Amino acid sequence: THFGYRSVPKNAKTSMVGSVFSDVASKYDLMNDLMSFGLHRLWKDLFVMSLAPTADMRILDVAGGTGDIAFRIVEKKRKEEHYNKKLLEHGVEPVVVVDINEDMLQVGKERAKLRGYSESEVMFVHGNAEKLPAASETVDAYVISFGMRNVTEPEAALVEAFRVLRPGGKFHMLEFAKVQNDVLQYLYDMYSFSVIPLIGQIVANNRDAYQYLVESIRKFPSQEEFAKLMIRAGFQQVSYRQFHQGIVAQYSGFKL
Ligand code: SAM
Repeated sequence: THFGYRSVPKNAKTSMVGSVFSDVASKYDLMNDLMSFGLHRLWKDLFVMSLAPTADMRILDVAGGTGDIAFRIVEKKRKEEHYNKKLLEHGVEPVVVVDINEDMLQVGKERAKLRGYSESEVMFVHGNAEKLPAASETVDAYVISFGMRNVTEPEAALVEAFRVLRPGGKFHMLEFAKVQNDVLQYLYDMYSFSVIPLIGQIVANNRDAYQYLVESIRKFPSQEEFAKLMIRAGFQQVSYRQFHQGIVAQYSGFKL
């Protein structure tokens, strides 16, 4: 064991992911703030800014959970000129959140209602990233934020992303990545292997869920490795940029 590191067998991943997110759904947003010192808000803001969403864009927010990304997209769409007129007259494209976990979706729906978003602006759909409930070549932008790490077979999710995107459509992913600085990596390990499970225990009463989180970050492909998986799935002009020395990276690629 390394800083209390315990391993979860791969075949247990799907059920583990299920129980992790059901248990933490109600505390999910608070936990993100605590664990990342609020930084996840900045990463998500920067991520959505680069999507440049418009009212007519068809966007799928895969593993969208409680709606953090979808709501930011709706806010951006609302800033568009004549948005309200479009909404009333011929409608706008709703952001479609797809998630495998009903409890996360439920929290998302409640948050959307509280924020005053209508169903024509954001929709919550139950579904699996590896078998998306969307027709081929219908989506302008595929978005996945801190979700790919939890998918059992990321390669299968990439093939699905490629299938649902229209030619010219763009793939966008935000995910934890490989820290590019040894000192920061050391501090990050200390923090993530000891402090995060402890916060998980105290706040969400679920140490294992947050142990799993830390472990899944460790196991996820590096920036270069993931970019290769994207290329293998058919994406072109694949690129990534890093936030905070690679704690998080944003990937993009086109289906051409
Ligand atoms: N995108 C949101 C955000 O950035 O705050 C939520 C991210 S949360 C860390 C990961 C989400 O992935 C959970 O809501 C979980 O239910 C979902 N998930 C895990 N495996 C999935 C799959 N195979 N298909 C769809 N969603 C999945």
